Amino acid sequence: MLVEFECPQCKGHLCETWSLNCPNSVVRFSLWHWILNPGIAINELALGQRMPERMFVCKSCETPMPDRCYVHCSACDSFHQGRLWSGLNAFGHWLGYFCPTCGAAIPCLSNYTSKLITAVTAPVWYLPARAARRRLIASTRKRIGRARQEKVRLEPVSVKDYRLAGWAYGVGMNFVMTVGLALLWMAETGDPFSVPMFLMAFAVGALVWLPAGWLYGQIMKSVLHRKGDPNLLLTSEHLAVTGPQSIKTSELTGFQDSDHD
Ligand SMILES: [Zn+2]
Ligand SMILES: [Zn+2]
Repeated sequence: MLVEFECPQCKGHLCETWSLNCPNSVVRFSLWHWILNPGIAINELALGQRMPERMFVCKSCETPMPDRCYVHCSACDSFHQGRLWSGLNAFGHWLGYFCPTCGAAIPCLSNYTSKLITAVTAPVWYLPARAARRRLIASTRKRIGRARQEKVRLEPVSVKDYRLAGWAYGVGMNFVMTVGLALLWMAETGDPFSVPMFLMAFAVGALVWLPAGWLYGQIMKSVLHRKGDPNLLLTSEHLAVTGPQSIKTSELTGFQDSDHD
């Protein structure tokens, strides 16, 4: 489906589209990571976090990426700021994202492991989920609608935040891997994994995971802190002057014809 982007903030039409087959390799990597990493099943099944299939990043808003990233509802053709689903509002979306304006489902990615777990455990959750479906959708819609009404604007993200998030990722992953190693050790040998052994394994793991955390912070900064360029502002008034025939739709939206679904 072809979507013509119009930024709700600056009314510009130029955007970068983020999807599994977009040209941006970092974005492509993180979206495929969402689908393939078995650990993401915890995010989806336990926490109810979701990742939209497509996001639109305005090229002409002079703000960091999180402020110019939009989710589109094809049912009512509206663009919603992705930040509506951030912070505490990122959780509890077990049934997916729903448009705060019209209530239609917004397509989200599905992690393969959570798909498998969901299919195997369907006899347990299917009936209760069906009974709770309407209420759950109504409450998440209300939550997101309230965030939009209140024009929820989080503190601007600073460069320090990316570094902190990177370190948190490194330390967190090191902890998870060390616990995994301890469990494996105990299952294999039947011996306890003592505290000094845990600390030693954690210290060795830090040699790998701290640089990995630093790199993760750097990548996040380079992707998320990029600001748009006001020189790329192309509104419908510009189009009326230059004539729509002079600009191809794919240039306006960042979409190629092969991107239709
Ligand atoms: Zn904009
Ligand atoms: Zn809608």
